[in-house]
This record gives sequence, structure tokens and C-alpha cells, in this order.
Amino acid sequence: MIVFISQLAGTEPELLRVDRIVGKKISILGMARSGLALAKTLKELGAKVFVSDLKDEKILKSETNELKKLKIDFETGEHSPKLLQEKDYLVLSPGVPGDIPIVKEAEFLGLPVFSEIEVAYWLCPAEIVAITGSNGKTTTTTLMREILKKAGRKTWVAGNIGVAFSGVLSQITSEGIVVLEVSSFQLEKIQEFKPRISAILNLSPDHLDRYPNVDSYIQAKFRIFENQDKSDFAVLNYDDLLLRKKAAEIKAPVLFFSTSTGLEEGAYIKDKNLIVKLGGKEKRIIDINQIGIKGPHNLSNAACTSLIATILGVKPETIAEVLKEFKGVEHRLEPVAEINGIKFINDSKATNVDSVWYALQSVANPIILIAGGKDKGGDFSKLASLVKDKVKLLILIGQAKEKIKSVLGSLTETVEAQDLAEAVQTAYKKAQAGDAVLLSPACASFDMFLNFEERGKVFKQEVAKLK
Ligand code: ADP
Repeated sequence: MIVFISQLAGTEPELLRVDRIVGKKISILGMARSGLALAKTLKELGAKVFVSDLKDEKILKSETNELKKLKIDFETGEHSPKLLQEKDYLVLSPGVPGDIPIVKEAEFLGLPVFSEIEVAYWLCPAEIVAITGSNGKTTTTTLMREILKKAGRKTWVAGNIGVAFSGVLSQITSEGIVVLEVSSFQLEKIQEFKPRISAILNLSPDHLDRYPNVDSYIQAKFRIFENQDKSDFAVLNYDDLLLRKKAAEIKAPVLFFSTSTGLEEGAYIKDKNLIVKLGGKEKRIIDINQIGIKGPHNLSNAACTSLIATILGVKPETIAEVLKEFKGVEHRLEPVAEINGIKFINDSKATNVDSVWYALQSVANPIILIAGGKDKGGDFSKLASLVKDKVKLLILIGQAKEKIKSVLGSLTETVEAQDLAEAVQTAYKKAQAGDAVLLSPACASFDMFLNFEERGKVFKQEVAKLK
């Protein structure tokens, strides 16, 4: 018997492709948030689900308890042959790379492999706004949610943002709208995923540690437009030359946003106002000085969001109201404290060179920069002129210390610290009133912390101790 997720029952089953779920034997790779949420959903819809995770059962205690309760089959500590035996297809959780041996083997055997967002898409009754890019995804997705909420639209935010798409499916109704933060990893294994509006904020050679070259990274990101047609919209950053050039390959109507050039259509800046022009009608959204989130990158994020909101029919006044109020997301250029005239800023989410470039652009004061961590293969030399002009002291931590020092160390006073606590102490000792102490690491956090959130929290705790 088919058991529908309660709210999904209101929508035509054939539209939701439950035929691909009911009675199917499905393996899910990865047991974390999204994998677990998907397993539950598929089981509830009548699939026979098997979940596999390389991590030890001890680490996955709560997940395996949950699976036992739900009577869902699983294995931990390995990806055994059982994963591929007599299965209809394999689904990858967002964190699972698409090129690990078991996935390659599945593909060799002709077993379809899908990402979690693809399968969740089959079951999603609402329209989707999908946002990707190298930087600014979470900020833009969150801002989008706030604007749609203010406009009175039923909105769900999910994807890379810490809420599994499969986890919110049961709440989604057809008149609502889903704002999805999408990573290139998730786009690698889509097939029919077709957002109503897809946006790429920018492209920088991030995540090169997981891609053979820049092209394959860009290719993965562009799959966000792959299934769109004339009735959809593609939103792109005009200021990003790569994106501008590749726009010709997109089937959906393309709308650009820019912070540097006036456009015939799209979002742009005119006389210090953010403007959106669609169908020949120019609408003034807001004086750019009134926008709550600061810096050139955030102006770009605001332009993108305003453009999407206008396509969705939100009034300029509503967009403006939220742009004024929105203070940004934790760990992204987050003002932490001002102690004796010294500002402390937490930009722990700056895990690549590009976002640090924007952070240095955005902070007006003389900067004491705390950087370093696990190297992601970025080109630190891009920061050279900004470091020379704006950074009075560079404090390095983590594995990438030596590499950063060899590239930037001669441009300003540079010291090393054992850990973040020592870095904060040193920064405070050397700082004068009017300076800004900026944690903007240009690296991943995994050499010293669980994740960037923990790194940001430790920074804030250390700053609090100075008071
Ligand atoms: P993502 O979700 O893509 O990682 P976030 O919104 O979490 O993006 O921001 C990550 C980092 O990038 C932060 O340091 C933030 O200040 C910076 N950032 C935000 N928007 C942009 C942008 N449009 N271009 C470059 N850097 C940005």
C-alpha cells in the first residue's frame, strides 16, 4: 500500500513522480542530516531503503538509532557490495563526492546515481528558486527568504544551508516557494532538476581540491540551468566575465545583475540607487547607502536578490524594507565587539581567497588580519596589493601558515600564532584605537576545528575574554 506523506497527498501523485519511489529498492550514501531525512521520506512513500556510511557506528549513534526505530536497513564503517545488489538506484547525500570508488562502480554497472536534491525535486510540489555561486550563497538565500516572508509568501529555505531539502518536503505545498542553496557537488548528479529561477552569484576557482580543473567546476555549476526552458529564468552576475560569456549557452531567458554597469534589463546601480528594470519598466528599489549589509560583494548579493524578488512579483517597497533591516548572517563579516576603539569582525566563513579579498575591500579601518587554516589550493597572491595597502599586521594560524607567509609575509608585518586564542591575544596587544581585527582565514577550518562555525564561535569567545 502506498503511504503518502501527509501534505503531499493534496498534489497529483503523477506530478510528484512517486512512481519512482513506491516499491523501489534505493540505496542512500551518507547518513548525516540529508541522508537521514531522505531515507525517512522514501521509506514513508513505500520504498525499500538501504543507507550506508563510512563512519563508525559510534559516531553515528543518533542516526542509527533513528534508522532502527524506522526499521530502515543500514550499514556503517564501510560501503559493502550490498549497497549495489538488486537496487534500482543510488542516491548521494550532499557531502558525498561523486567520484568515490563505490559510485564509479555503480555507474559502471549501469545503476543510476542521483543527488539528494534531484530525488527531492521529484517530490517537490512548489516552484524552486535555486542559488549557487562560489561565495554569497547563504547570505543571498537568507536575504531571499526574508524578502519573500515579508511579501507574505509561503517560503521554505533548504539545501546547502543546513536544512535538508528532503527534510522539509512534507511541509511544502504547491502555492509556496522553495529557496534552495545549491552546491556544485549536488548539481553533479542531477537529471531533471529544473528550478523556475536559477542564479549564479559569481565564480571563483574555489573547491579546486575536489575538481581536476576550473572548467569542470564551472561546468558543474552551470548544470543549474540545464533543464530550464523558455518559461524559466536564469539570473547571472554581469560583472563576472566568465558568467557573462557562458550565458549564451543557457536556454532560459537570461537576466543579469551588475554593480558596475548600467543594463538594458536586470538589476544595476544608477545615481547611487539600486534599480531593477524588467519589461522596459525601471523600478527604484533603494538608496544603496541604506542597505544594511556592507561591502561591494553584499551590494552584488542585494542586486541579485532584488532582481529575483522582482521577477517573483514582490514590490520594491517590500524589498527595500528588508534590505534596510537585514544585518547579514553569523560568521560573515559579523561585527563582534568594539573594545577600546578596536573593532573585532568575525568572517570565519571566508574559507577561500575571493571572500577574503572582499572582506579586505569592505573593512575601512587599518586591519589586523587573522588568516590560515587548511589550504584549499587558493592563490593567496591575489590578496597582495590589498594586504600591502590595508593590513598592518598579518597573524597566521594552521596548516597553511608557511604557504601564506611565503606569498604575503614580505608585504606587511607577519607573525605566527599557535592557535586562534593566541592570535586574538596578539592582535589585541598590537592594535590601536581605530583598527579592526578581522578573522578572515582564506582557508578551511578542518585542521583545527570541527567546522567554520566552531572557528567563529571560538573567535567570539576569545574576544569576549578581552573585555
Ligand atoms: P557561501 O554560502 O557561498 O559560502 P556566504 O554567504 O556564507 O557564502 O559567505 C561566505 C563568505 O564570502 C563570507 O566571508 C562573506 O563575507 C563572503 N561573501 C559573501 N557574498 C560574497 C560575494 N558576492 N562575493 C564574494 N564574497 C562574498
